[in-house]
Amino acid sequence: MLNIVIFGAPGSGKGTQSKLIIEKYGLLHISTGEILRKEIENQTALGLIAEEYISQGQLVPDQLIIDMLADILDKSPHSKGYIFDGFPRTISQAQALDVILRERNTSVIAVFSLSVEEDELMRRLLQRGELDGRLDDNPETILKRLAVYKEQTEPLKEYYKKKGKLFKVKGNESIEDVFEGITGVIDHLVY
Ligand code: AMP
Repeated sequence: MLNIVIFGAPGSGKGTQSKLIIEKYGLLHISTGEILRKEIENQTALGLIAEEYISQGQLVPDQLIIDMLADILDKSPHSKGYIFDGFPRTISQAQALDVILRERNTSVIAVFSLSVEEDELMRRLLQRGELDGRLDDNPETILKRLAVYKEQTEPLKEYYKKKGKLFKVKGNESIEDVFEGITGVIDHLVY
């Protein structure tokens, strides 16, 4: 299975690149943020809890996310592979992902870390907030999310670097150039 993690701060282009990657390789896109937004829209029990955290720019508690993810993988066991977008976001989530995939006789093959300067992230997120009205794309919540990213998510780079799975990509280049960088690595690993 071709399992990939797309990693980076809010606004670094994870969603955009994920969509291109799934088209090219026929993978299943798992965006925990998108799934949570659907749960909120449908006013499910999980959605109601998630909304509290998301609107504050905080992470939703690990166990809720891990259970949600295991559930999704169980519903689509025959995928060619998964692209994890916005997950894992903490060391506990990364450890849980390792276990969940090992139980299914598979693993993560590559983690692409998209790096973008903070003022550019802010610019992109504010623009997105104007376009699609996401409840967490306002200046105050964006600053909180960037701080949470630095504190809780960035340490994951070291986690995957130690495993030899981290590939750094400059996320401020054009969408096409970033995509080319990513596919170059995937094709090299797979073929
Ligand atoms: P995203 O669309 O990936 O930027 O996620 C939007 C929000 O959903 C985040 O700011 C978190 O509040 C929540 N969220 C998404 N994925 C996760 C995750 N893996 N762990 C905890 N919270 C998450």
